[in-house]
Amino acid sequence: MGGIFRKLQSAIRNLLLTGIVLLVFIPPLLSAQNPPLFRQSRILMGTSVEISVSQADSKTSEEAMEAAFQEVERINRLMSHYRPDSEVSQITQHAGEKEVRVSPETLEVIERALYFSRLSEGAFDITIGPVFRLWNFREGKIPDREKLRDQLKRVDYRKIKADRSRSTVYLDDPQMELDLGAIAKGYAADRACGVLKKKGVANFLVNAGGDIKVGGEKEKGVPWTIGVQHPRLPSDFIAKLQPKDAGVATSGDYEKFFIKDGERYHHILIPSTGMPARECQSVTILAPSAMDADALATTVFVLGPKKGFALVEKVPGVHAVIVDRRGSVLLSPNWSPGVLLPP
Ligand code: ADP
Ligand code: MG
Repeated sequence: MGGIFRKLQSAIRNLLLTGIVLLVFIPPLLSAQNPPLFRQSRILMGTSVEISVSQADSKTSEEAMEAAFQEVERINRLMSHYRPDSEVSQITQHAGEKEVRVSPETLEVIERALYFSRLSEGAFDITIGPVFRLWNFREGKIPDREKLRDQLKRVDYRKIKADRSRSTVYLDDPQMELDLGAIAKGYAADRACGVLKKKGVANFLVNAGGDIKVGGEKEKGVPWTIGVQHPRLPSDFIAKLQPKDAGVATSGDYEKFFIKDGERYHHILIPSTGMPARECQSVTILAPSAMDADALATTVFVLGPKKGFALVEKVPGVHAVIVDRRGSVLLSPNWSPGVLLPP
């Protein structure tokens, strides 16, 4: 039994790794008026990216989805810090040395990241990389204090110089690094949606590893529904959301973590200390774009409920659901009724 299960698991993994596309055609079950639902997923940006479209014409759907996946790949080529040839890696390679010319897309994401850094007084910081790398979540090791103190000197968003008029970015310290891991997937989801729209698809859901953007509706009169995972019970939901033409993202302490001496250590770090943020189990953000939802989920997670809700109220069109450290579900004061459903 175990052998068969393992073989099946590895077959699925191989299928995903070789980039073979799972194209699912789900015929309309209930009403002849509803357009069919097409769904594809691919492994991109180190995660599973899934696109669903509700669209009458299958040729339009297929072409639009292909173009949308290609857009995600293009964004990854520009912004992945794992690719030495990306613009983000070029900025890191020339830190303290020279400005690097970048695409409008990379500039836009870096400028937006800086906006959230200033707004949160550094709770969000895309120069966290050197400290983040000290953490080994697979082996469950807490970084050495000395090393942590040393690497913290390299973290400071105020030393990122982005020049819009010349479309350049410069890091004002040779030791600094850029890591767009907390914002780029959301941006890629937004861009993929832009492509779908341009190709004539109005009803879609793009999920880039949990950073989601939806447009239109799933069926006539039926909105797209997104479940918010219970942080401690993976197969349960704490709520369901029905956003309209909006982005949704969740940051949780259950994504990458280990437990040592009863303490949970996870991948969302406080930039001033280099230690995991302690006040939340998960933060879900509803925002006009998936980029903002992605960045704000991380930011609010670091800030905790009190400061986090205060920040959310300053950004138009943004709402938050927080599961705090004790497991209580809290809604931001400006929560618009009708979007949140019981699980
Ligand atoms: P996920 O990648 O699970 O969706 P997030 O969007 O919250 O989660 O992003 C977490 C990633 O962002 C980490 O893997 C790390 O690369 C980076 N990161 C961690 N803490 C911060 C922070 N305070 N500010 C900016 N980026 C961060
Ligand atoms: Mg994020």
